[in-house]
Amino acid sequence: MAISGDHSESLDVAIIGGGAAGLATAIFAKRRMPDRSIAILDGATKLGAKILVSGGGRCNVTNRVVTTKDFWGGSSNIIKRVLAALSVERTIAFFAELGVALHEEPNGKLFPDSNKANTVVDALLREARRLNVRMLTAHRVNAIRREHDAFAIDVHVSPSATEHEPGETTLRARCVVLATGGKSLPKTGSDGAGYAMAAALGHSIVPLTPALAPLVLDGKLHGQLSGISQNVELTTRSDGEKPVILRGEMLWTHFGVSGPVVLNASRHWHRATLEGRDVTIVLSFLPGEDFAAVESRLVAMMTAHPKVHLHNALATLLPARVAEALLASIGVAGSVPMGQLPKEARRKVAHALTALPLRVRDSRGYAYAEVTAGGVPLTEIDGRTMASRKCPGLFLVGEILDVDGRIGGFNFQWAWSGAFVAAGGIEAALDA
Ligand SMILES: Cc1cc2nc3c(=O)[nH]c(=O)nc-3n(C[C@H](O)[C@H](O)[C@H](O)COP(=O)(O)OP(=O)(O)OC[C@H]3O[C@@H](n4cnc5c(N)ncnc54)[C@H](O)[C@@H]3O)c2cc1C
Repeated sequence: MAISGDHSESLDVAIIGGGAAGLATAIFAKRRMPDRSIAILDGATKLGAKILVSGGGRCNVTNRVVTTKDFWGGSSNIIKRVLAALSVERTIAFFAELGVALHEEPNGKLFPDSNKANTVVDALLREARRLNVRMLTAHRVNAIRREHDAFAIDVHVSPSATEHEPGETTLRARCVVLATGGKSLPKTGSDGAGYAMAAALGHSIVPLTPALAPLVLDGKLHGQLSGISQNVELTTRSDGEKPVILRGEMLWTHFGVSGPVVLNASRHWHRATLEGRDVTIVLSFLPGEDFAAVESRLVAMMTAHPKVHLHNALATLLPARVAEALLASIGVAGSVPMGQLPKEARRKVAHALTALPLRVRDSRGYAYAEVTAGGVPLTEIDGRTMASRKCPGLFLVGEILDVDGRIGGFNFQWAWSGAFVAAGGIEAALDA
């Protein structure tokens, strides 16, 4: 039946946002409380858009080992408590129940056996339908107000909605779950509107930055090496902070650098920049080797292969194109025979191999970031229930919270575990 305007329709639970966290919250909650009316309201016409593009279209559902060290942001005690409530083993079992078998790939990443993200989305939607979760797509929430012991939710209903007349309407709910995600990849529907709603309900917001974002570089080196991928070590140094040393694969691109190690480093660059701290990222092409070790290596090469040209000698350590472009960028001739390499040039090369500063101009921003750092502080929720400490009846799950995981399936695990905890919290709140 089409309904429009402010009407008396009242839900037990309104979940704002039907991404990973919202869908999982609906499923876990409805399994516990089959008789409660639970609806997902989402501005998008289809749910789970971000899951579909995740993991290169394959959805890295979780990781074999997930610990608090895989996350940045708020209190690690709360992160630990939430993760423990739905462990990786139970997450694997949950997806198996839904008919999604997972397999492990390098670095512990777990993907669906189908290697297709739509297997994950379809399974979540099927389960939500089986449980009679109402999925109100094309329902964009504009504001949420606490009124007496319930919430009034102002919704814009688009013409493609299958329930309710297009236009403005107000729904009511006893509990609200904010699962609106962050600001990353806004074309999927996650444009950060949830932060303003959380703030209007009494929450503070830890300032936001993109995280897991490719980095844009100044200079010419990256353009010459576009398409080359290599294992490197990146050290992010910023005033007053311990250096963050990360290793992994880096991809040179036409705009700068990408790949897992760069995406992981980007949040540290952004947080330091946001806080006005000087920050540098230096690149080592030879992870684990310091300047002295590399200089000794070069000295040994000079003795063992005095006639070999420098660029050929370096090509035993790096991709040949990288060796050539690197030498050109530091103004050392690659054609010099190793036996005639001057000390100053040798030191310059050793320095470039172990501590080449990346000239970071910016990241590619939210349009390319996989997650958002910052958000609702974990100190403002109860980690046993995901309930807001600021507004009774409100729950928060997923990326809207001040937690961002590294690459590897950790952000989804945060969403699944938080959803599981919230379901228990909502049940207790409705029964109280
Ligand atoms: C390209 C890419 C690849 C990724 N790959 C992985 C991966 O392989 N593994 C991993 O662990 N993580 C990955 N991530 C991160 C992961 O997708 C997110 O952390 C996760 O989806 C967050 O889930 P969420 O439910 O909190 O938010 P979202 O998935 O962003 O869902 C939020 C939902 O809320 C809706 N919404 C927002 N505002 C409103 C409003 N006002 N009214 C109604 N609805 C609203 C949106 O339409 C959206 O459907 C990737 C992210 C990107 C961008």
